Amino acid sequence: MTFAPAGSNLKLSMGQASELKNELIETGRLLYEKGMLAGSDGNLSAKIDENRLLISSSGVAIGQLKSDDFVEIDFAGKQVSEGGKPSTETAMHLTVYKNRADICCCLHSHPAYATSFAVAGMELSRNILPEVAVFVGDIPLVEYAPPGTGAISDAIEPLLAKNDAFLLKNHGLLTIGKSVKEAFFKHETVEHFAKILWMAKQLGNVNRISDDELKRLDQLRQKLISS
Ligand SMILES: [Zn+2]
Repeated sequence: MTFAPAGSNLKLSMGQASELKNELIETGRLLYEKGMLAGSDGNLSAKIDENRLLISSSGVAIGQLKSDDFVEIDFAGKQVSEGGKPSTETAMHLTVYKNRADICCCLHSHPAYATSFAVAGMELSRNILPEVAVFVGDIPLVEYAPPGTGAISDAIEPLLAKNDAFLLKNHGLLTIGKSVKEAFFKHETVEHFAKILWMAKQLGNVNRISDDELKRLDQLRQKLISS
């Protein structure tokens, strides 16, 4: 059986895939070092081209990924490379790419502070920190769906058109971006925000940004998205 794509794009595609793998390996290491993962938690993927994506294999340690801990699949979910089995959350990743042609990377982890809010069923509102309003936008709290069953796809699909970060109830965090770096920055920003909000709640007060200022920040976000 031939797994490699045929044709003159082969060299370029292999180079792109290898570069992407390195970026994902480094991102997995950072997610682990920043306390967003334990054991074999989490999964990540990135688009190689219009036909294929790289996704972490099922059961691997995202903080210690090796180059053979990924598989290539097409956008119908068919495995097109050798290796292990694709992540159990492959359906969630495919749903993102199917609904958002602009997205090139999906990151899912269980960061301690953000997941605490997901477990408590408490929103991470965008009207508290300006960088969240501008760089992340709304972070919808997504109804609980059993992991690994494909049910998360149904829960996030209606929210995908307008959002890039999703707090999955009793589960964790999903962020998406036009690049690996962008998806990671959103992940890191949401977790940092959750930590700050948790601390402010310990102090006993959380001030909110005014509606007028939020409108101005939303306009900045729209400019950023369309640039
Ligand atoms: Zn998970």
